[in-house]
Amino acid sequence: MTHRLILDYDLSHHNTMALSCMARYALPLDDAKTLCDDIIFANNVAKEHGLPLFVLSGGSNVILPSKLHAMVLLPKLIGIDIINENDNDITVQVACGEHWHTFIQTCLNRGWYGLENLALIPGLVGACPIQNIGAYGIQVSDFIEKVIAIDLTSGKQCTFDNTDCHFDYRHSIFKDNPNRYLISHVIFKLHKNTDKVITNYGDLAQVAQHFANQNARPTPHPIDVFNAVVQIRQAKLPDPTVLANCGSFFQNPIIPMQDFIHLKEKFADLPSYPVNDDLVKLPAGWLIDKAGLKGKGIFPILTHQNQALVLTNHAPYVATQQDIKTAQDFIIMAVHDKFGINLVREPVWVD
Ligand SMILES: Cc1cc2nc3c(=O)[nH]c(=O)nc-3n(C[C@H](O)[C@H](O)[C@H](O)COP(=O)(O)OP(=O)(O)OC[C@H]3O[C@@H](n4cnc5c(N)ncnc54)[C@H](O)[C@@H]3O)c2cc1C
Repeated sequence: MTHRLILDYDLSHHNTMALSCMARYALPLDDAKTLCDDIIFANNVAKEHGLPLFVLSGGSNVILPSKLHAMVLLPKLIGIDIINENDNDITVQVACGEHWHTFIQTCLNRGWYGLENLALIPGLVGACPIQNIGAYGIQVSDFIEKVIAIDLTSGKQCTFDNTDCHFDYRHSIFKDNPNRYLISHVIFKLHKNTDKVITNYGDLAQVAQHFANQNARPTPHPIDVFNAVVQIRQAKLPDPTVLANCGSFFQNPIIPMQDFIHLKEKFADLPSYPVNDDLVKLPAGWLIDKAGLKGKGIFPILTHQNQALVLTNHAPYVATQQDIKTAQDFIIMAVHDKFGINLVREPVWVD
C-alpha cells in the first residue's frame, strides 16, 4: 500500500485565520477502505519522529502555530448514504470530508430538514460534533444520532451514540479528548415536515417570512429559513475568503443570576438570554463593543466593525499565533476591567 505522506506541508492557506503555519508531516485520508491502515501507518511514522497526531479539516476553528511539530491528518472521505427512511424521517450517514454548507443544500434539495439554521457555517462534516456547532436557536447535537470515529491510539473503529458524545454548549467528549479520535462519519436523523421550522431567534422570523412571501408561501418553509440565515450571516459576518477570521472568537459567557442582577444595575441595557432559573447567557460581542473595542484590537488582529465577537486578520499570511495571543489578551483584560467577566476563547489553540 502506498501512503501519500507530505513532508513540510504549508498550512497557511488551510486555516481561515490565514496564520502562517508549516506542519512537519501531513497525510490526506480519502479512502474509507484503507482508513484504519493509513492511521496505523501515520501513528508509526509519528512515533518514530516523536510527533503527536493532529486532525485538521476545514481549518475554520483553529489557531495554528508557526511551526506545527505534528503529523497532520487531513480527513477527505466523501459520501452521503441513507441508512433508514420512512414518510416522516430519514437517517443518513455522512462522511467526514463532506463540505458542511453543501451538505445542508443537498438535504434541502432532497426534502430532508432540520439543519437549515446552521447554513453557511464553514468547515467539514467531521468537525461539526467537536464543538457541537450551533447557530440561530439550534445545535447540531439535536440532529446527531451517532458519531463513528477511529481511536487514534489503537487504530480501531468505535461508535458513539448521541448521549455518549456528552454534547453541551460548544462542547463534546471530543473536545475534552483532543486528537484522541478521528471522526470518520456522522449519522444524522432529519425530518420531512416542512412546517417544523425554528425561527424564534433574533430577526430570523421576520426575514424568513420575507422569503416565504417572495415564494408565495403563507408561512416559512425550511428553504425560506435557510435563505434567511444565509442573508443574515452574509450581512453580519465577514467572509473568511475576503477577510481572514475564524468566526466567533469568544464563547458567550454564562453567569450566575445573582451576578447578572448586579451587572444589570450598572448596565441597564445589558442584553441577556436565560439559560435556566439560576444562569444567564450574555452576548460576548456586546461586552467587547461596550468595552470600546469594536473595530479595534492590536494590529494586525482587530475585532470586526460589524460584529466585535469576530477577530479579523488584516495581514494575510504573515500574522502568527503570537499576534492572536497579544490581541486576545488585550480584549480579555479590557472586558474583565469593565464587567469583571473572563471571556473564554472558542477556537482550538494548537501548540
Ligand atoms: C466565518 C465563520 C463563522 C462561523 N460560525 C460558526 C457558528 O455560527 N457556529 C459554530 O458553532 N461555529 C462557527 N464557526 C466555527 C467553525 O466553522 C466550526 O467550528 C466548524 O465546525 C469547524 O470545522 P472545520 O472543518 O473548519 O474544523 P477545523 O477548524 O479543521 O478543526 C476544528 C477542531 O476539530 C478537530 N477536528 C476537525 N475535524 C475532525 C475530525 N474529522 N475528527 C476529529 N477531530 C476533528 C480539529 O482537530 C480541531 O480541534 C465559524 C467559523 C467561521 C470562520
